[in-house]
Amino acid sequence: MSDDATIDQHPADSAFHRRLPIGEVLDASAVAEGLPWAFETITMRPLEPMLVPEKPRGGELDPAECGPCAPSEFTIWHDEHWQVRAGWEIGGLPFIGAIAPREHWLLENAPVEVLAALGPLMQRVSQAVKSVPGVARCHFGRWNDGSAHLHLWAMGRPAGMMQGRGAVLSFWDGILPPIPQEMAEEHIRIVAEALAAGGGEAFPMR
Ligand SMILES: [Zn+2]
Repeated sequence: MSDDATIDQHPADSAFHRRLPIGEVLDASAVAEGLPWAFETITMRPLEPMLVPEKPRGGELDPAECGPCAPSEFTIWHDEHWQVRAGWEIGGLPFIGAIAPREHWLLENAPVEVLAALGPLMQRVSQAVKSVPGVARCHFGRWNDGSAHLHLWAMGRPAGMMQGRGAVLSFWDGILPPIPQEMAEEHIRIVAEALAAGGGEAFPMR
């Protein structure tokens, strides 16, 4: 099993990488100006060396140790191919959940029947999240760095929260005051039952 101490890393080398000002603090005003509803100023850390090979993601080397493959009390809904998990950490957004296949697939190797079921599921998740009181829109994110197991995030954007437009919404989950546990449970129940109304099972592990 590899870890940080055993990986022999070296700087990534490409035409893209060779032009980068590694070690410098870069001007982030373009982000603040592009998202003026959220940021006044941003101070970046110095640009760090980009080392490869990268540390393996969760479940990358040994799917037996993959989190989304193991049963979880935080699975709020599943059907034949897909599962939705939520509630293991309470943040400031009305709802945030993770959508993943039940089996250990990557985007690169997932069977077509699993991928084909994702489109209709995204439509159902969006409707379910928007049925949570106080939610105007459901945003989806697919960041591919933490777990190798294919997963997407679904986030409820609070109604009227123009400062939460776009990708910055994910940061607000850690900035807004955490919602009360009871409210989080209620919102999770609403999403789980809305999903189950269209097929599959709510709270299969509870
Ligand atoms: Zn997995």
